[in-house]
Amino acid sequence: MKYCLLCGQKFLPQTSFLQLFSWRKKSEQCICNRCLARFERLPSKRCSLCSGRLLDGDPCADCQKWSQHYLGNVMKHHAVFQYNDAFHDLMVSYKRYGDYILCEVLQFLCYAELSKLKADFYVPLPTAPEHQAKRQFDTISAIYRPLVPLSFFLIKRDGFGAQGEKTRTDRLKTKQSFALRQYIGLDLNFKKILLLDDIYTTGRTLYHARDALQNKFPQAQISSFSVCR
Ligand SMILES: [Zn+2]
Ligand SMILES: [Zn+2]
Repeated sequence: MKYCLLCGQKFLPQTSFLQLFSWRKKSEQCICNRCLARFERLPSKRCSLCSGRLLDGDPCADCQKWSQHYLGNVMKHHAVFQYNDAFHDLMVSYKRYGDYILCEVLQFLCYAELSKLKADFYVPLPTAPEHQAKRQFDTISAIYRPLVPLSFFLIKRDGFGAQGEKTRTDRLKTKQSFALRQYIGLDLNFKKILLLDDIYTTGRTLYHARDALQNKFPQAQISSFSVCR
């Protein structure tokens, strides 16, 4: 018996075949089936580039705009869940109230999909230093650290407000806030890099992160992943 990390009820975790052979203790079921059912997986009919819900043609209108903006150099994004009320509640508790233990819920929700994506380097998006100081932990790397080896190639410059507080239009106007860490000591050209974020909203943040890497390593093969979008 375990206690659900979201509702506190006792439940019997189901062990999957994958977990029997997994070193990922973090992938154990940590929420009850009733809470799990509140999270909505992305539909199978989704944009081939950004995993978003498709309304008309593929790729979606947003990706077509990115394609124009970047002259065809669009980025493939993988995501697992649809942003809904359950996710909103989870992220508010995790990020706004700094409830660290909830990173285990996010790990449980994404580990199976993430383990299918092989990369040479897994690069978490850095949090602004002022936010990290407030919460005492880095919300993105806390999710992914037990799941994949992380490479901290990016830094975030101080003084850029949280994306969560912005409207969609403001987000798209956000200026580049990422930079490469001063010393990387590796040639990342032709390497497969997977950028890791928690939520994909407009794509602006992840594209900025990619730009920071591709400026120095134009041949790096960069795609991205988030738990939800
Ligand atoms: Zn529950
Ligand atoms: Zn798309």
